[in-house]
Amino acid sequence: MNSYISRRQFLAGALVAGTAEAVLAPATTQSVAATPANEFDFPIIDFHAHVEGNFTLQRALELANARGAKLGLAEHAGCKEEVHNDATLKAYLERVKAAPVYKGIQAEGLDWMKCFSKEAIAELDFVLSDALTFPEKDGRLVHLWTPEAKITDKQDFMDRYVDFNVQVISEEPIDIFANPTFLPEAIVKEYDVLWTEPRMTKVIKAAAKYGVAIEINSLYNIPSEKFLRMAKAAGVKFSFGSNAHGDGVGKLDYSIKMAKVLGVTRENMFMPAPRDQKPIMRRT
Ligand SMILES: [Zn+2]
Repeated sequence: MNSYISRRQFLAGALVAGTAEAVLAPATTQSVAATPANEFDFPIIDFHAHVEGNFTLQRALELANARGAKLGLAEHAGCKEEVHNDATLKAYLERVKAAPVYKGIQAEGLDWMKCFSKEAIAELDFVLSDALTFPEKDGRLVHLWTPEAKITDKQDFMDRYVDFNVQVISEEPIDIFANPTFLPEAIVKEYDVLWTEPRMTKVIKAAAKYGVAIEINSLYNIPSEKFLRMAKAAGVKFSFGSNAHGDGVGKLDYSIKMAKVLGVTRENMFMPAPRDQKPIMRRT
């Protein structure tokens, strides 16, 4: 039996179960007004916005605009996704060509680069990926944000997970590492204990080495302030991400809060690189 659960299907399931209400509840005047105005020397950009299904780009732009944020679209792409080759990637870019958004993909699988030409990927503003589709010891791919993530030995899991984080950052020519330090529901309460300094250092070192930005994620409120302080000291750049598949686009409360706490300025922030300096060009 194919146990693959796509991010979209999972979200649909969560909707039915009611657990995604906070993310998908219609924006109220109050929630829009509560989003602070930009106090930074850089634009507020949600580089992790999913616009799909019945949620239109027009609606996404209205919401982001009301929240003072610009959008970066993270269209799912990979060898098994709807966007899976140069032709389908071009069709996506054509579809959003006129929109005032950054055009990106959320790359799925470690092998996504093989399904596209370098030139086609370089047309994008950014490529984002994460370590949430985790290869278990028996080769099964486990989606860590779903109940299929069962952890028997926490320390052993963490060691393998940290190695996988480093692998994603080292092997995939990505601009942004999304959902950093995410932990499955079963162990998330132990976040501060399990994310030891040596473990955080490994991920941060890889990001610094390969010039990959770390997302400050406002869906899961990760990474921790401690992790972000270490990353900033290591010269790693940051991006903001809502990881919203609907009305939460541009809602970046945690990202903004952390940027203030850390005193982040434009030098610390990710912006799409010129074509010849994109990871797909300089790393492959
Ligand atoms: Zn996403």
